[in-house]
Amino acid sequence: MKISAINNRYNSYVSIQNQNTAIANPVLSRQPACDTVSFKSAALPRLFINDLREIPDLTCGCCGKKMLQNDAVNKFLNEKIYYPASIALKRIKNEKIFKESKASKEMKHAYSYLRDYSAKHPKLTMNDILTKRAVKEARRKLSPEGSEAFDEIREMTKLIAHNSKYIIDEITKLNPDFRKVEKRAFKELQWLAKKYPNETFHTILNKPEIHNHYLKNLEAKQMDILNKIEFASESLEPDVKPLVLDAIKNAKEIFKNEEPSIRHKRSRVIAEFQSAFEKSNNHASVKKIADIADSLPSSVTDVDAFMIKGSQKSTNTIVETLLGRQRNTFEHVKPHHRIGDNGPSTIYNYIGLCGKCNLERQRMSYEIFTKIHPEMIENEQLQMDKIIYFINNGILTGYDKYPQEIKKALQVESKNAINIDISRLNPEQAKLKRKLRQLLYVETKKAIDKQNKVFKFGKCYFYKKRH
Ligand SMILES: [Zn+2]
Repeated sequence: MKISAINNRYNSYVSIQNQNTAIANPVLSRQPACDTVSFKSAALPRLFINDLREIPDLTCGCCGKKMLQNDAVNKFLNEKIYYPASIALKRIKNEKIFKESKASKEMKHAYSYLRDYSAKHPKLTMNDILTKRAVKEARRKLSPEGSEAFDEIREMTKLIAHNSKYIIDEITKLNPDFRKVEKRAFKELQWLAKKYPNETFHTILNKPEIHNHYLKNLEAKQMDILNKIEFASESLEPDVKPLVLDAIKNAKEIFKNEEPSIRHKRSRVIAEFQSAFEKSNNHASVKKIADIADSLPSSVTDVDAFMIKGSQKSTNTIVETLLGRQRNTFEHVKPHHRIGDNGPSTIYNYIGLCGKCNLERQRMSYEIFTKIHPEMIENEQLQMDKIIYFINNGILTGYDKYPQEIKKALQVESKNAINIDISRLNPEQAKLKRKLRQLLYVETKKAIDKQNKVFKFGKCYFYKKRH
């Protein structure tokens, strides 16, 4: 995209934002019913963005797809997907999993604590409650098992889910720019929701006829890959070939004959091949076979595998996974967990990658990663252009030094494969625009407060009676 196109698009964003300052004013949106008088402490509405994950419509630095803002996903899950704890806790009482675990005194204590807390705050979800300071302090005083019981209960409450139709309707309103596999998975889910609108996805995906359909598809693909490996193993040297054939036999056993509920089958199969390869010195033929083994379907690359994995998860976890892969996440340019080379967790080591690309990159150097994903070179530039636009227009704050630092970090990590152009950055303009936004905001707020008869006293806003 040309910078002029971005400009046009974000000029409209800036003007909308200015109008939204009035609409989104939290002081006003928390205004009580018109015949009451109340105090509220002042809170500044969002005037600036200070986290790159909150830039609207930012595209992934790798795949270039539009990402969902991080906060928007949290808000969506909290408000639309998870049930409030007060309801979920009542309902898990009837779940088998809860009845079985209820015997322990730690679970009993955690349950009654959470039940009482949620009764006082009936709209909060379990995630909300577990972030409250009082709850954290109460947990600190408990034994490790006692504290763990809170997390166990949270996981159980995730089993309480909305029906399939509701979930499809809500995700449709959110309109995510799904990646390929997720787009297909969502279409499958849409189709299932039409067929079974009042059931949860967990129940639907565990119906024998549905489960068998996806499992058969998946197994056919797995056997196809194993056959390809068998064919390719013909060219291996005589001492390695029997080891690979043995690994194929074990792989078939794992895929075909083990219980469908057993997890991590794919990684165990890959491990079988890896241990066979360790004995070989013929790197070229081993790489060829390793590449075929890598193409074994996983829930990230294949829709049937996604559905089978989904059947083992709760409905809410399926939604979390689906949206999590489109979410704008911080990617450590210098990997955080690379042995002997831990990259820092600061904005000067972060770029925005969608959950899916972030997961794929892991600890790989960009020198190798850009060979697999050459589109990253262009897409990282597009992302930086947009970030610079938000800095220059005074919307993104705290990022003035970001372009230089990230340019350097990317050059080092990719051995110059990624060399972005940051010449459009204009810190002077950014400073000026920030001041202007601040002024405009203060003026707008004053005008609205006057119109709504709100006045400030000390740190509190006071709402007059309205008739
Ligand atoms: Zn991506």
